Parts: sequence; structure tokens; C-alpha cells
Amino acid sequence: MTDSLISSAYSQALEVIASVEPRIAEATRQELADQRASLKLIASENYASPAVLMTMGTWFSDKYAEGTVGHRFYAGCQNVDTVESLAAEHARELFGAPYAYVQPHSGIDANLVAFWSILANKVESPYLQKMQAKNVNELSEADWETLRHEFGNQRLLGMSLDAGGHLTHGFRPNISGKMFHQQQYGTDPETGLLDYDAVAAKAREFKPLVLVAGYSAYPRRVNFAKMREIADEVGAVLMVDMAHFAGLVAGKVFTGEENPVPYAHITTTTTHKSLRGPRGGMVLAQEEFAADVDRGCPMVLGGPLSHVMAAKAVAFAEARTTEFQDYAQRIADNAKSLADGFLTRGANLVTGGTDNHLVLLDVSSFGLTGRQAESALLDAGVVTNRNSVPSDPNGAWYTSGVRLGTPALTTRGFGHDEFDTVAELIVDVLSNTEAGTTKAGGPSKASYVLGDGVADRVTKRSAEMLDKHPLYPGLVLS
Ligand SMILES: *Cc1c(COP(=O)(O)O)cnc(C)c1O
Repeated sequence: MTDSLISSAYSQALEVIASVEPRIAEATRQELADQRASLKLIASENYASPAVLMTMGTWFSDKYAEGTVGHRFYAGCQNVDTVESLAAEHARELFGAPYAYVQPHSGIDANLVAFWSILANKVESPYLQKMQAKNVNELSEADWETLRHEFGNQRLLGMSLDAGGHLTHGFRPNISGKMFHQQQYGTDPETGLLDYDAVAAKAREFKPLVLVAGYSAYPRRVNFAKMREIADEVGAVLMVDMAHFAGLVAGKVFTGEENPVPYAHITTTTTHKSLRGPRGGMVLAQEEFAADVDRGCPMVLGGPLSHVMAAKAVAFAEARTTEFQDYAQRIADNAKSLADGFLTRGANLVTGGTDNHLVLLDVSSFGLTGRQAESALLDAGVVTNRNSVPSDPNGAWYTSGVRLGTPALTTRGFGHDEFDTVAELIVDVLSNTEAGTTKAGGPSKASYVLGDGVADRVTKRSAEMLDKHPLYPGLVLS
């Protein structure tokens, strides 16, 4: 019943779209076919449910609703109020957070809201107090100049990009690396693991206003109680960006000191990665920061995406089920199977393994750069992304690693045996790929030669697994 409903709903929607712009309808069909036919191992991607996807395609997209629930700058927001309060209520329950702000359009937006909330809450300035007392008109041009100076002279300590941190954690070319004086902590050069004593030493010396924890490419769990201890010792605000692993928190795989929400002053996340919701962001906060985070609009955001907030509510309703908890556990179990599959075949993994949802494969032992490995794998239908490894000799463009995550294929139903096969296929591709040469005859970091027949045999083995675990089973487009 549901299958045929979904099939006819999407088939008809595509007909409506085709009547206006057939090429978009065609690209939409093709995207489904392509996603169905490839091994998606991009650690930040997933497949949201038809209910989540459909919720995004409605007239809520047409409504302006700047402001907060019950306090909007536009008339007629009663239904948006229902949607936003339900999404926030689900989020508070799901994560055990005192306060949730579901308006951010993306993970980066959520981080910007968090940064400015921390500045507004923590920077001690008589000018700021005047501003918050709403006596903005009392501020002279010189006062504003001082305020800009005080806001602009704060320090942030985050995990470096090549150790697995995110651009928004103080990377120089990102706004976070420009609006703050930033320093970065890395991982232990021997083990690749986070060294809490080294983070603490850096924090004592640098005395940041904001300590950022969280990552995009670190294959291990983090002890957030320890990070909070470090923040408290130096008087910093602990901000945790759980964009990648929010699904493991929601699914109760990361509990106790591995659950950031009780320890962080502010927790940010995306909703579309392991959490398996719509593309979007969210901020969770302790009461102390709630009022400042609530000013995300107009501070850094415009009108909220009401259709996406609605889809967040649907996704959170899914994430509180025992089915989702089982899914989250399988994400972590499968990552272990994938890592073991590589290790038994002699491949090198950063930190020697994983205990979250991702594996960082160091491809230098195959004589390849990350860029070459990523391209050769794509030729064989394996979709990954190249990624720096700690102290990467090939820099952030070519890199020496490939990042692989299990959330998407776990959604399709892949288990231990399939992930072991995935490791086998990847090793097959990489050990049969040779680095190419430049036009001048020197070694190239980009070109490569994939052995004859490799792509075919890998694609065939993948297809067997993919056919057994169809994406959106029952969804047939007419
Ligand atoms: C993906 C990610 C983001 C950014 O999310 P977008 O929705 O792409 O803006 C922020 N922080 C971390 C840690 C991430 O992994």
C-alpha cells in the first residue's frame, strides 16, 4: 500500500515537473538511477525516508516567518509556529537538550549562529550591555568602533582540518578563521589519536573564548567530559559540532561521556548526515545561551525554511524509534567490519581502525594520492571523497587519504559481509591502479591508470550487493 502510494506520488510529481521543465524531471530520475547503482561511501551522506523527502516539497516553502515561534515579523505564521515548535520539542526530547533552535539552513549556518551567540553572551563590554539593554541609539560611532574591536579580538581553538576538524572550526580561509584569532589542535603524530593533555596544554597557553570539539574525518569517539574539563579550566565556552555523528547520539550509540549534549554549552549539528533527516542545521544549547541563540534571526539568518523545519520534525520522529537505534548501532558495527576488512588485507588506516561511523584509509602504501584513489574508485562505481591525513604531505587538494562512511549503505541494509566485500573491492581497485605521469614525464598527483577489467569486475560484484539491498525498495517510477 505505502509502496504504491509513494510510487504514484513521485511518478505524478515528475509528470508535473516535466510539463514545465522536462530536463529537470529527467535529471531527477537520473539522480535516483545513479544513486541506486553506486556504492555510496561518502561519510556525510545518507538516504532520507520518502516521508522526510516529501515533507520538503510543499507550500511551506512559500511562507516567510522571520522571528521565533509566536513572535514573527510576518502575519499568518500560525502553521509555521506549529511546525517549528514541534521540531524543537522533538529535538529537545531526542537529545535531552534544554533548548533547541531548528532554523539554521545548514551546518555552517548553525555554527555561525553559535559563534555569534557566544560572542553576544560572553564578551564583556559596557557597550554590549547598552546594546542588549536596547539602548542602541545611545551608542555613538566611536562606541560601535570599540565594540567591533572587542568582538573582533576573541580567540577560538578548534581541531585542525588535517586531523579531521571542519573548515568552520577556525580554518584560515573560512570566516571562522578570520573573525577569531584562531589556533588549532591536532592529533598525536604516532597514534593519530586525540591527545587530551596536548589540547589542555594548548588551551592553557592560548586561553580561547571558544573551544570547539567535533570533527568531519576523525575515525574515533571523543570524550566530551574531558573536553568540558579543559574548557572549564581555562574559562572557555565548549562548543561541540556533532554534524557527522548526530545520528549516533540520537540512536544512543554514543552515551555517557561520548554524548556531547550534556557537556557542551552549545551543540551544533547538521540534520542530513548520520541523523538521516533533511538537508539542514540545528543548534542545541544550555539555558544560559538560549536567548542569544534565539536571535539567530536576524543575527545571521533570514527567513527560516519552514518546509525543511517540517521535515526535521518528521525525521526526529523517526529517530526516536527503536528501529533508528538499531540502525545507529549497525552504522558503528558496519564501520568496524569495513575497517577489519581493510586491516586483514594489509591496508593502512589512520588511528589503526574506527569506533564511529567512518574509516580514513591512507592510500600512500598503494603509491597513490587521495585524488588518484578517489577517481579510480569512481571509475569502478565506488563513490568516496579524498581527504587529508594528519600532516598530509600532499596537502588539502591532492591529499593522501580516502574517507569512507557507513551511514548510507547501512540505510540500504548492508551488513558485515557486504562491508567486508566493500573493503575487498576497494583494495582490488587500488592495488590495480598505478600513478600516472605528467606531460613532462614526471610523477603526477592526479592522473592514474586503472588496470584492464578491474572496473568491470568490481562493478559487477557491487551490482550483486546493490540489487540485494535496493534503495527505496518499492519505489517504481512510471
Ligand atoms: C558537514 C559539516 C558541517 C557543514 O554542514 P553544511 O550543511 O554543509 O553547511 C559543519 N561541521 C561539520 C563538523 C561537518 O561535518
